[in-house]
Amino acid sequence: MYFYSPTLKQEKVFRDPIHDHIHIQHQLILDIINCREFQRLRRIKQTGTSLYTFHGAEHSRFGHCVGVYEIARRICDHFKRNYPSQKEGDGLWDDRNRILVLCAALLHDLGHGPFSHAFEKIFQTNHEDITVALILSEETEVHQVLARVHPDFPKAVASIIQKTHPNKQLVQLISSQIDADRMDYLLRDAYYTGVNYGRFDLSRILRVMLPKKNGIAFHLSGMHAVEDYVLSRYQMYMQVYFHPVSRGVEVLLNHLLKRAKYDYGHPSHPLHHSASLLAPFFTGDWSLEDYLKLDDGVLSTYFTHWLEEEDPILSDLAGRFLSRKPFKSVAFDQEKDQDKIDRLTQIIKELGYDTNYYTALNSSYDLPYDFYRPGQKKNRTEIELLRSDGQFIELSLVSEVVHAITGKARGDNRFYFPREILYPETNSVSLFNDLIAEFQQLIQQLSH
Ligand code: ZN
Repeated sequence: MYFYSPTLKQEKVFRDPIHDHIHIQHQLILDIINCREFQRLRRIKQTGTSLYTFHGAEHSRFGHCVGVYEIARRICDHFKRNYPSQKEGDGLWDDRNRILVLCAALLHDLGHGPFSHAFEKIFQTNHEDITVALILSEETEVHQVLARVHPDFPKAVASIIQKTHPNKQLVQLISSQIDADRMDYLLRDAYYTGVNYGRFDLSRILRVMLPKKNGIAFHLSGMHAVEDYVLSRYQMYMQVYFHPVSRGVEVLLNHLLKRAKYDYGHPSHPLHHSASLLAPFFTGDWSLEDYLKLDDGVLSTYFTHWLEEEDPILSDLAGRFLSRKPFKSVAFDQEKDQDKIDRLTQIIKELGYDTNYYTALNSSYDLPYDFYRPGQKKNRTEIELLRSDGQFIELSLVSEVVHAITGKARGDNRFYFPREILYPETNSVSLFNDLIAEFQQLIQQLSH
C-alpha cells in the first residue's frame, strides 16, 4: 500500500549545525514537528549524562530527530535520481514510499523519556514501546496528524520503527548497522561533545549507497568511507558513550530515583514535597498522558526539592547529582576479581554506607560490527558492498580493518563507590583508618 501527502508550495528550512539546512517539503512533516508530543523532545537531552563529562553535549532529542529525517530525505532524493524503480519488485527505489520513510525517520525516538536509561531501569518503561504507543493512540496529536493521510498510515509508520514492515529496504534505512539514525547521532554527538572521533564522510556514504532487493548496500568504491563510519562508531562508544564518569553520574541518578521510589512506598520515610508528576511511576500505574508530562527539567526540579527531604540518603544523593559528584570507579574482571569486589563492598558497609545506594556494578559492552550469523538471538543486518561484477560481498571480507573488530564485543565492567573513601579529607582523623587503607590498597591492585 502506498500513501500520498501533498508537498508545500515553497519548502521551509531549519538551520542545523550538522546538516546546515533541514529541508521541509511536506505540510505533513511540518504538522508533525508542531505536535506537542514532538515539541516535548526539545526538553529531553540526547545523550543523557554524557554532558557531565563533555559539557557541550546539551543538545536535544529534537535536533537528532529532525537530523535523521534530513538524512532519510537525502537518501530518498539520491535513490530517486539514480535508482528509480522500473517495475514493481525490481529492488530499485519506489518514491511512493518516501512519505512513509520520512515520517518513520522523524518519529523513531518520539517515546524517549527524561534521562533515558536510568529512568527506564527504575520505572520499567521502554522508549521503543512508548514510541509505538504514541503513534497508535488516537489521543495523541501525532496520531491525529498521521491519520489524516490515511487511517492505516499510523500503523504503517509504526511498523517501520518496529522493523515488522514487509519492505526491508525501508526498515534498513531507519534501522540497521549503517542507517540514518546512527549516522545522525554519531555526527551530532561528536560535534556537541567536541571530540574528534565520530566524524566520517556523510555525503560520500550517501553518494555510494544504493537500494537492493530487500535492503540497502554500498558501492565497493565507497568501502573506505563505510570503513571510516564503522570505526567512528567504535571510537564513539569507547571514548564517549562508555565514559566512566558519565556512567558514574548515571549510577548516581539510578540510585537517586530508586531511593525516591522506595521512600514513596514507605510511611516511615514520607516525602514532604509531593513529586506529583512522578507519583504514577512510583506506583507503576501510569498513562501515556502522565509520561508526556515528564522531561529533564521536571525531574531536575524534583531533585532540588529532595535536597530538603528528611531522608539523609535521598537528600545526599540529590546533592551529589545536582553538584556533579559522581561515584568513582575501578574496572574489574568478572571472573578473577570477584573476591576483591566482595571485600570492597564489605568495607563500604562497615564504613556506614548503605551499599544498595552507594555501590554499583556497571557493565557497558557494544559489538562494533558483525556479519549475519544464522540462528543468533540478536541478528544483525550485515553491510554489503556491490562489486563491479554485480555480486554483493560482506564488508568484513574485504576490509581488513573492519575484520579486526568484527564480532568482538568491546567494553568493561566497573565497580562504583563513593569518591571520598579513596580521597578522604586530608586533615580528618578517622576511626576507620585501617579500613580505608585496606580499601585504597585493593583499588590499587585492581587498577593494574
Ligand atoms: Zn535515534
